[in-house]
Amino acid sequence: MIYMDNAATTALSREALQEMLPYLTECYGNASSIYRFGQRARKAVEDSRRRIASLLGVRPMELYFTSGGTEADNWALLAAAENAGGGHIITSAIEHHAVLNSCKYLERRGFSVSYLPVDKRGFVRPETLEREIREDTFLISIMAANNEIGTVQPIAELGTIAHRHGILFHTDAVQAFGQIPIDIEGMHIDLLSASAHKLYGPKGVGLLYLRRSVRLPALLHGGAQERGKRAGTENVAGIAGFARAAELAFSDMSERAARESVLRDHLIARIEREIPDCFLNGDRRERLPNNVNFCIRGVEGESLLIRLDQQGICAGSGAACSSGSLEPSHVLRALGLSHADAYGSLRLSLGRETTREETDLTADSLREIVRELRTQQES
Ligand code: PLP
Repeated sequence: MIYMDNAATTALSREALQEMLPYLTECYGNASSIYRFGQRARKAVEDSRRRIASLLGVRPMELYFTSGGTEADNWALLAAAENAGGGHIITSAIEHHAVLNSCKYLERRGFSVSYLPVDKRGFVRPETLEREIREDTFLISIMAANNEIGTVQPIAELGTIAHRHGILFHTDAVQAFGQIPIDIEGMHIDLLSASAHKLYGPKGVGLLYLRRSVRLPALLHGGAQERGKRAGTENVAGIAGFARAAELAFSDMSERAARESVLRDHLIARIEREIPDCFLNGDRRERLPNNVNFCIRGVEGESLLIRLDQQGICAGSGAACSSGSLEPSHVLRALGLSHADAYGSLRLSLGRETTREETDLTADSLREIVRELRTQQES
């Protein structure tokens, strides 16, 4: 199998699994129990919080563990809205559905939301953001990097604008965390969402960074876990695995990015050279190091995925959670692509283990599959 869908999820690393195992087996105590057996679990949670906080350069008390990126995004938006009581939110048209559908929900509750357009390569223009700000804007939420086309947003500039107007700034960093540097202070980030399973950690665990000076209500109500802000028995093993995965991802971030971007550019160059009538989506420079996204004219993304799968290659088309739906990707549509072009999209996302040979095999297979599909259509 050739795994080219690391933007959807990654393999759990051996090191993260090792870190998790004791809390799934012998050390199964509840982190909220008073006895020492439970306190070992508590220590694992708090050590993990400290370790991740030090990677981000924030205070441990500013991190809240969640069940993943979706929960962190929901929490950031719904809590900021509850706090404001009414008013206006600005986001972009290319956010993940975790943000977009939270915004849609808030619209139904009477809030107003602006969905900023992006340019042809997927950038939110700072001047567009500035123009959209209103008296009653209380939150700006712009993703750090896009999950489909890999475009990395000018977060520092956008955050500066938000803070100049005294507006809270949230970024969905699920795809960026552990892949590209994030500077919470320099980028003026008040709230940030991240998820472990995108960086070789376990599924079902993530975090919300919440700046200490920002007071927001809880999303889940119940026990006093996470300082009363996020009720529910802690996922101790998941949290421990997240911390280890994050440490590893941060420790080799620049080498990994350098290695993956060479492979990415090699794959892009081969596709552009060998497959007629296709074009790259997103930007060439401000792009996640592992993201390749093409529109291949005259073929359907779904057919491509099925044929690639038959050859043992896992790839993506649109967002993982929206594949299966008949709507073309909202991200590609926001770039100005026609329905027909957006249907012919393919995302290949490389990972830590991807080899040059795998990128070559993928390019070979893709060239042949596209040729066959186009011939079939002509006949
Ligand atoms: N935000 C972005 C940009 C994502 O890519 C994803 C997952 O694909 C999510 C949020 C949701 O994260 P999770 O799967 O941890 O709920």
